[in-house]
Amino acid sequence: MTETGDNELFPLRGELDHFIQDIPHFELEDILDLERVRELNEAFAHTNGIASTVIDVRGEPLIPPANHSRVCRAIRNTPQGLANCQRSGRLLGEKARKLQRPVHSPCYSLGFVDAAAPIMIQGRHVATWLVGQADLSDVDEDRIVQYAREIGADEQEMLQGVREMRTMSPTDFQLRVDFLWRASQHISDLAYTNLKYSRAISRLQTYQRELNQYKLYLESMIQDRTRDLRYALHQVDKLSKTDALTGCFNRQHLNENLVLELQQSVSAACALSIILCDLDRFKEVNDSRGHQCGDYVLQEVTKRFRSCIRNQADWLARFGGEEFLFVLPETDMRVASSVAERLRRALEEHPITYREESFSITATFGVATYDPNISSPYTTTEGLIRIADQNLYRAKQQGRNRVFCSDPPECSKDIFARRR
Ligand code: GH3
Ligand code: MG
Ligand code: MG
Repeated sequence: MTETGDNELFPLRGELDHFIQDIPHFELEDILDLERVRELNEAFAHTNGIASTVIDVRGEPLIPPANHSRVCRAIRNTPQGLANCQRSGRLLGEKARKLQRPVHSPCYSLGFVDAAAPIMIQGRHVATWLVGQADLSDVDEDRIVQYAREIGADEQEMLQGVREMRTMSPTDFQLRVDFLWRASQHISDLAYTNLKYSRAISRLQTYQRELNQYKLYLESMIQDRTRDLRYALHQVDKLSKTDALTGCFNRQHLNENLVLELQQSVSAACALSIILCDLDRFKEVNDSRGHQCGDYVLQEVTKRFRSCIRNQADWLARFGGEEFLFVLPETDMRVASSVAERLRRALEEHPITYREESFSITATFGVATYDPNISSPYTTTEGLIRIADQNLYRAKQQGRNRVFCSDPPECSKDIFARRR
C-alpha cells in the first residue's frame, strides 16, 4: 500500500487529514461492520482451506473462527487444548504487532503452521488476523497420539482429522497470508478514511448550522439597524424642518414648501392665502417676565394657533423670532381674513398663565392672497410675503391687535380691526 496508491483512491485525503486530525480512540468495530468482517473471514477460510479468525489486541476473538479443522475442534474441545491454542494465537499476534508485518510459526499444540497479520491503522495496532492450522506436512502421527493423551482428547478422532487435512506448501501459505494482510490493511484503511469523512461531514453540518444561525442573527441585526437608521433619518428629516422651540415648521421648510404650494395653486387655478403674524410688544414680555416666560408664550401661542387651522391642509411656520406665517391652500382672501381673525381672538380672549400669573397677549396679522379669479400681482412667494408684511406693518401702525388684508376692495382693510 503506497502513498501514491492512497492518494489516487482519495485525492482529497491531504485536506481531510488536515481538517480532521487522527481520531485517538477507536476500535476495529468503530470503523468496520463486524458482520461483514465475519463474512469475509468465512469466505477466505473456505476458499483457501485454512482456518481463520480476527482477534482484538487483548487476544479476544472479534468474530467466530471459521473453518476449524476436525483435529483442531477436537483439541479445542479440551480445556488444556483450548488454552494452548489461544496462547499460540496471542503470542503470534504479539509478534506480528511488534514487527508490524505478518509472521508465522508452528502452533503450540501440534506444530501446524499458524500465521498472524496485524491490522494497523495510522500506525496503531487495532486487531490481528489469525490464519492457520495449515498442515505443511511436518506433523507426524506419533506426535498426534502423544498430544491427544497430554490434553485428554480423542486420539482416533485427532488422527482421522489430520488425515483429512489438506497439505499446503510453505510458499502457498505465505502467499495467502500476504494477500490477507494487504486486503485487511486496505479495507481497514478505507474504513478509517470513511470514519474521518463521516466526522468531517458531521463537523461541516455543525458549521453549517452555526453559520445559518449566525446568518439569521446578522439578518435580524441588519433589520434592527435598518429600522433604527430609518427612524434616525426620519428624526433628522423632521428636525431639519422643525423649529426646536415651538415644534412648528422652520423658515427653511417654509422657503422650500411655500414655493411648491404656490406652484400647485397656480397650476390648479386655486386661491392660496398666507397670514403673517407678529406678537404685539413681545419684547416687553421678555423684559418684564423673563426670557423663559417669553419661550413659554411662544409655545403656548403655537398650540392655540394650531387648533385654529385645518389639520390636513393648513400649516404654520415660525417666520422669525416672534413671527409666524400661516399657509392656507385653496383659501381666498375673505376666508383667510376670517381665519386670521379667529387666530387673533384665540390670543386676545384667553390670557396666558405662566407660574400662576395670567396676562394677555395679542398679535397683529397681515394677509396676502394669490387668487386666479382676480388679476393678482402676487405670483411669487416673495411677492406674497411682501404684501403680507406690508399689511402687517399697516396693522401695527393702526395700533396692533388687528387683521389687515389687501385689496380687493370688498374685503375691507380693517374689517376685523380691534382696538385695544
Ligand atoms: P412689536 O409689537 O412692534 O412687534 O413689538 P415687539 O416687542 O414684539 O417687537 P420687537 O421686534 O421689538 O421685539 C421682538 C422680541 O421678540 C425681541 C426678542 O427678544 C423676542 N424674541 C425673539 N425670539 C425669541 C425667542 O425665541 N424667545 C423669546 N423669549 N423671545 C424672543
Ligand atoms: Mg417682530
Ligand atoms: Mg412683535
